[in-house]
Amino acid sequence: MAGKNKEAFTANFKVDDAATRKVIADRYFAIAGTLRGDDAKSIISSRAECTGYLAIGAAWTGPADGTTFFCPIMKKNPEKLSKCVRMSWPGVIMHELSHNARLFKPGALDTAQGPAECKRLSTAQAIKNADTFNMFGQSMALNTVC
Ligand SMILES: [Zn+2]
Repeated sequence: MAGKNKEAFTANFKVDDAATRKVIADRYFAIAGTLRGDDAKSIISSRAECTGYLAIGAAWTGPADGTTFFCPIMKKNPEKLSKCVRMSWPGVIMHELSHNARLFKPGALDTAQGPAECKRLSTAQAIKNADTFNMFGQSMALNTVC
C-alpha cells in the first residue's frame, strides 16, 4: 500500500500491517460480494416512510437478519462520490453493510461517526466501527484521506 491509500489506511486503522490489511480487505470483499449478488446474505430495500425512532436515522441494518433499509431522507444525499461526504449513498451502503453480521463477524458497531471521530479510534475499535468503513471506503475511491 502506498501514497494516499497508505495514508488513508493508517489514518483510519493506525497501523499498516499485513494482518490488519487482510481483515479489512476480507470485509470489503464480503460487502462487494453481497452487492454483486454473489450470496443471499443481505436484503437491501427502502421504506416509504420512517417514523418514530426510525426517523432519527437515514438507513438501518439488522445485524442478525442481514436486512438493510433506507429511509426517504436518503434521497437528499448525493448518489455518487465526488468528494468526502459522510452521508453519500456509496458511503452509507458501506457503513450499513458493515453492520451485517451475516457478512462477517462481529458486525460493526456505531462507536464513532464522521472522519474526525473515526480517526480517534484504536485499531481494534476501528476494525469494528461502521463509519470507518464509510470513511476509508470513500478515501480509497477518491484517492484521498476523508
Ligand atoms: Zn451504523
